[in-house]
Amino acid sequence: MSARVGAGEVWRAARSVVPAGHLDAAGCNVPTDRVLDAVVAHLRLERERGGYAAVPDLTASRSALAALVGAGPADVAFLESGTAAMAALLGGWRLPPGSRVGYARTEYGSTLMLLHRLAARRGWRLVELPVDGTARLDPEGVRARLAAGLDLVIVSHIGSHHGVVQPAAEIGALCRAAGVPFVLDVCQSLGHVEVRGTDASAYVGTSRKWLAGPRGVGFLIVPGLTPAMDAPAPTLSGHLWEEPPRTEEVPGRTRESVPVPGAARYESSEGAIAGRIGLGTAVLEFHEAGPSELHAHLADLGRTARGLLDGAGGWRVAEPLGEPSALVTLRPPPGDTAERAAARAADASLLVGVVPTARAPLHLREPVLRVSPPPGTPLETLHALARVLAR
Ligand SMILES: *Cc1c(COP(=O)(O)O)cnc(C)c1O
Repeated sequence: MSARVGAGEVWRAARSVVPAGHLDAAGCNVPTDRVLDAVVAHLRLERERGGYAAVPDLTASRSALAALVGAGPADVAFLESGTAAMAALLGGWRLPPGSRVGYARTEYGSTLMLLHRLAARRGWRLVELPVDGTARLDPEGVRARLAAGLDLVIVSHIGSHHGVVQPAAEIGALCRAAGVPFVLDVCQSLGHVEVRGTDASAYVGTSRKWLAGPRGVGFLIVPGLTPAMDAPAPTLSGHLWEEPPRTEEVPGRTRESVPVPGAARYESSEGAIAGRIGLGTAVLEFHEAGPSELHAHLADLGRTARGLLDGAGGWRVAEPLGEPSALVTLRPPPGDTAERAAARAADASLLVGVVPTARAPLHLREPVLRVSPPPGTPLETLHALARVLAR
């Protein structure tokens, strides 16, 4: 354990800005001074030079981000959130009517809304993938569904509402073997658990959670682009005219556009450029701190938190106690609620999350308390929360 605590200490030194009671890395984590400085420095540069003249070369940021999943810089598109990234990816995917899309009941609320809407409008059929009693996808069951015919599989690596780490590498290998594209939502997993080796066609992520970048930035990493994958709407930054536009319109003739190569088709040219720079800085810091040591440190923190909190005041941890994630969720005892416990925690200067059922409407039956300690969280903070729950 000492080596892992050591990694936490290294990280903590870099992150001495994290407020003591902050236990909401899964909601909105705390950017380091270096990240904030990079954001502010770019805003100043935009003011001094003019925004267009200040446009940065983000290739190093794209490379660092893509490396977290084993992809390359041309596979990265920056958007404004994970939700926007998922909407761009699925909204532009030309799946014919009758296509079968696999998803799990643990899926994120906005993604389910999107899937239901796209299914209704485009004639896609939604196929629920089997999970076990802990809501973990059952690879054998997924294999059987793939054999029965699927055209796309969408999985959240870790849900917003539940600390179970889905067997993404196994599902990815099964999809690859079946020739079925696999979309992995890494909003809660990148910067938290190992994502390399999952072999997804596309990854959907967000900056402000475990990567501790600024708010307002999300991203797609698309190593498995196919001709059926396009942006939902063509844009001048992401598409080219198939032929040079004519100065004189020819009646009856329409101009076609084609997507530019790579993930750039999904990216808006206008955006929070300073935020993209901040995310790039946060990802570089993550590489410097050592991804595998941090993953191990966070898994330890999560297990420790579950051990300390399970049973406190009758609260029960919802996922298996030994789950290797630092996203811990608790169900209330009779007579208490997640909202009231979060308010008591706030009175004790502890920041925890409340996850409403809408976040995972097919899985959550009541709101849960979410405890997600950032790297370097002192044990005393977890003890303080256990005392609040026991009250
Ligand atoms: C937060 C989250 C999202 C959405 O990301 P935003 O940046 O908030 O739009 C999607 N999926 C999961 C699992 C999440 O936790």
